[in-house]
Amino acid sequence: MKQLYGLIGYPVGHSLSPLMHNDAFENLGIDAHYEAIQIEPDSFKVEVEKLKKQQIKGFNVTIPYKVDIMDLLDEVDPLARAIGAVNTVVNQNGRYVGYNTDGDGYVASLLQHVGGTLKDKAVAIIGAGGAAKAIFYTLASHKDSPSSFYICNRTVEKAQRLIDQLPFQANASAITLDEAEKKVDTFDVIINTTSVGMHPDVEDAPIDIQHIRPETIVSDIIYNPLETKLLKEAKQKQAYCHNGVGMFVLQGALAFEKWTGIVPDQKKMEQIVLKKLTEK
Ligand code: NAP
Repeated sequence: MKQLYGLIGYPVGHSLSPLMHNDAFENLGIDAHYEAIQIEPDSFKVEVEKLKKQQIKGFNVTIPYKVDIMDLLDEVDPLARAIGAVNTVVNQNGRYVGYNTDGDGYVASLLQHVGGTLKDKAVAIIGAGGAAKAIFYTLASHKDSPSSFYICNRTVEKAQRLIDQLPFQANASAITLDEAEKKVDTFDVIINTTSVGMHPDVEDAPIDIQHIRPETIVSDIIYNPLETKLLKEAKQKQAYCHNGVGMFVLQGALAFEKWTGIVPDQKKMEQIVLKKLTEK
C-alpha cells in the first residue's frame, strides 16, 4: 500500500513541499505520496489523531501548529524542545517523534553557500520570532559556534527573552534595529529572519546596511522574492549574498532523510523549487 506523508498547517495551499517530496519519492522508487493537509484550528487535535490512526509515516508541520503539535507526540527531540517548535514528525514503529530541521537546514545551507566556518564570527540575527529562535539555538549549539551573537528586534524584549531561554552557553546581546544599524560594520554575518521585504512588500528592508564591510555575509531567509531589497543592497556593497531557498530545500531534505533513511538529491529538490518560484 502507498505510504502516506504530508504537511499539516493552515493554510497550506501554496506550499512547495509536495512537489519537492513527491519527485524525490518517485526518483527513488519509493511507493509513497506526500500531501498538503489543511487542518482548521477547531479540529486540529482530532485530525492529527486521525492521521496517527492511519499510521501516517511522517509529516511536516507549518504555521500555526509548530508549537501545539508537541503535546500530541510521544517524544520530542531535545533541540526541538529547546527551540519550542517542531516542523518534522517521524513515525518510529508507531511512536511519533518530533524534530526541528529548520535550524539545521538553515545552517547547512549557509555553510554550503559561503564555505568555511562561522567560528570567530560576529553574527547579527534580525528578528526574534520562531525562525530566529531555530537559527540562533542551532548556531549556538553548533560545534563551530560563532564567537558572538546580536539578536536585533523591533521589540527588543523578545530578543532578550530568546537569549534568556537559550539552554546553551553563548555570548549574546539583545539590541534594537537602530542599534543594529549603528553597529552594522562590526558584523561578519547578518541574517534577516523577519518577514520584512517579503512579497508583496518588496521595497522594504529590515535595516539599513549602507555601512557594512564588503566581505560581510548577508543572508535573508525569505525566498519570495529570491532577491530581497536587503540582498540587492548587499550585492551592491560586494557582500556575500544568501537567500532562503537553501533553508527551505535543506529543512525538507533533512526531514526526508529522517523519514526514509535516504539522503535525497538536494540539487534536484532545489531545481524544482526554483522552477516553481520563477515561473510566471
Ligand atoms: P514570527 O515568529 O511571526 O516572527 C516574525 C519576526 O519578524 C518578529 O521578530 C517580528 O518582530 C519581526 N517583524 C515582523 N514585521 C516587522 C516589521 N514590519 N518591522 C520589523 N520587524 C518585523 O515569524 P517566523 O515564523 O519567525 O517567520 C519569519 C519569516 O521567515 C517569514 O517571512 C517566513 O516566511 C520566513 N521563513 C522562511 C523559512 C525558509 O525555509 N526559508 C522557514 C521559516 C520561516 P516583533 O517581535 O517586534 O513583532
